Amino acid sequence: MSTIENKNGSSPSLKPTLDVSQIKLAQKHSYEKLKEGNANWVSTRLEEDPEYFTKLAKGQSPEVLWIGCSDSRVPANEVTGTKPGEVFVHRNIANVCNHTDMNMLSVLDYAVNVLKVKHVIVAGHYGCGGVAAALTHKQFGIIDNWLRHIKDVYRLHSNELDRITDQTQKVNRLVELNVTEQVYNLCKTSIIQNAWMERQDLEVHGWVIDLGSGKVKDLGLSSSSPDNLGYFYELDSTEALAVH
Ligand SMILES: [Zn+2]
Repeated sequence: MSTIENKNGSSPSLKPTLDVSQIKLAQKHSYEKLKEGNANWVSTRLEEDPEYFTKLAKGQSPEVLWIGCSDSRVPANEVTGTKPGEVFVHRNIANVCNHTDMNMLSVLDYAVNVLKVKHVIVAGHYGCGGVAAALTHKQFGIIDNWLRHIKDVYRLHSNELDRITDQTQKVNRLVELNVTEQVYNLCKTSIIQNAWMERQDLEVHGWVIDLGSGKVKDLGLSSSSPDNLGYFYELDSTEALAVH
């Protein structure tokens, strides 16, 4: 068996030669495209309304908080046909609402208590890569710790999920159950429960977006009171003086 050797006596690399200039050009193009897109967006808005940005800069009063997946295919405004200023947004991988996530809690507190939003929507999507990854035993890095929240959802619903043999159906059912549990997690927070004691116009909802059709499926979880939380998670209206 003959071998091909280079001058140093070692086998030549089988890696394809990378054309660095082409890579740099493509990289520059994808970056410059963003600036062009911004310039076009600004001119279109101004054509429609010369005062558009003057009004936008005055402040925001959104009625909706959207907690969605970071996936690039599910942007809150586009999916709901809303404009800048109408939806306050928090996104993370697989739309997890974890009660020790200061980022999510800060967004939730600001939206509920300062902006006084009327609707909080947890929006998952079928085919979610984060949910699919949680169904495997592979390591993906630090994200494995985040995806453990999804594995916990699986454990809660393993009786149902174990019976689904089709992998796509299993992912999509876990997507729905994950949204359900995250809605429940939001309702358990002191932020939502205290808001419900003060006002009647705050609802928490669960949605799943179907990427194949673009349509939203309302899971029918809408909650506006702690009635379905269960005794153990309900909080009293006053804080205890001390916890020992
Ligand atoms: Zn996703």
